[in-house]
Order: sequence, then C-alpha cells, then structure tokens
Amino acid sequence: MKTLLKSIVPEQYHGKLKEIACRAYTVLYAGDRYSCPLCGRGFRRMIPRGYRHGVLFEKHVVGGGWRRDAFCPGCSSYDRERLVYLYLKTRTTALRKASKVLHIAPERVLEKLFRKVPGIDYTTGDLFSKVVDVKLDVTAIQFADHTFDLTLCNHVMEHVPDDRKAMAEIFRTLKPGGLAIIQTPISTVLEKTDEDLTDIPVAERIRRFGQEDHCRIYARDYEQRLASVGFAVEVFRWEKEPADFGGAENRFALNPEEPIFVCSKPAG
Ligand SMILES: [Zn+2]
Repeated sequence: MKTLLKSIVPEQYHGKLKEIACRAYTVLYAGDRYSCPLCGRGFRRMIPRGYRHGVLFEKHVVGGGWRRDAFCPGCSSYDRERLVYLYLKTRTTALRKASKVLHIAPERVLEKLFRKVPGIDYTTGDLFSKVVDVKLDVTAIQFADHTFDLTLCNHVMEHVPDDRKAMAEIFRTLKPGGLAIIQTPISTVLEKTDEDLTDIPVAERIRRFGQEDHCRIYARDYEQRLASVGFAVEVFRWEKEPADFGGAENRFALNPEEPIFVCSKPAG
C-alpha cells in the first residue's frame, strides 16, 4: 500500500504523505517505553523495518536487516538517523555552529534539522532525487577541494560500484580538519567485503548482497577502505558511552550493534 501510494504520488508530495501517516501512527503507538530524540514523542514501541533476505541474517548485517524498533511512528526517523543526530548533537558542534555542510542522499528528518541551524551553508545532493539542491554524482563531486566542514553520506557506498572513488571525492572536498560520517550496512561476521561489480542478475544480487541495487556487503575491512583514501577513522560505539544515547535501557530505540564511522580529514 505504502509503495503503491509512493508510486502514484509525485516525489515532492511524499513529505506530506509521511506527515499524514505519522499523525495516525503517533496515536496508535503512543506510550512510554521509547522517547524519540528527534520528535520528542513517547511510544510503546517503534515500527519494524528492514529487509528479511536470508543473507542479511546469515552474515549478520547490522543496519540492513529487519529490526523490530527501527522506525519512529512520530517523525519517520530510522534508528540510524537518531544515532547520527545524537552523535552530531553531543560529540560535534555541527548543529550549533554556522558551517558548510554537504548532505548526500539526505535523510529528510536530519535535513529539516540542519535547515534550522542559524547561519549554516547547507547543500543537499543526490544522483536521482528531484528534491535536493543539486544533482550530485558522489564519484565526481562538482565542488572544489577543501569546501566542506562536514559531509554526511549514509547508506550510499553499498550502491556505488567505484566506492573508493566516492570516498576519495568526499575526502577531497572536505576542508582539512573536516568531518565526514559515512554509514553503511555492515556484516559483523565477514572479515572481507564481499562484492561483485559485474552485471549479475537481480535475483543473485539479492541472494548475495540482500538488496536488488547493492554491489556488496561490507565487512570488518570497511574501516580500512575508508582509511585508504586518507581518512583518520574512528569507529564510535554508542553502547560503550550510553549516557547521551538513551542509557543502558535504550530509551531512544537505537540499534545497539550499530557503530558510527567518523571520518576526519587530517588538519595539516
Ligand atoms: Zn520521532
């Protein structure tokens, strides 16, 4: 039903569609088990989301497979958006300070937040979406070297055949001392990223990577791949410092296994 509605309603009205659905869900799911840090509402549970393809369970792909409490009924934020928001809010100045920010394939809830930051120079870009500021190919970013203080590019790399080029482009366009957050679904059991850049059939792609448009499943070597283009990578695990992230009881319905890949461009 949701997919059908989305396919017949033009993209610029999807936000409105979401708003109407959220109003109904907010009543249905009201409660006090979880509190969404983005919309501030309380819920007895969140809405399950994520693919159920076998490989995602088999390879234990964090951030890609089915999660019971993933999607906020009140503002339609995903668990990963709440995590990135809390990280930016508590560990960076990005949501308080005027800075130059590039948001690739923007998550709408985070976009709304950024647009409210006073003095921010904020640009959204995407290769396919029409509701962004610029059309942007992440493997050939049209901005000059050393342009951005912060770049967000979440759940994009697994779709991009030349992901090293994309990472290098994000690195190039960051200012020295700048920060990029580059999240992706990631296997906790595979040592090496499993990828295939040939033209494999869709069914095989789903069987092997868990989604029809994915080129790979990243593994424990993801961090090294990011570092190979020059980034200093910190793998931040919120469950080790839970105080700002909803505490041990997981009040904000985050994914306990999801790390944040914080990529810094060395200052000098
Ligand atoms: Zn919410």
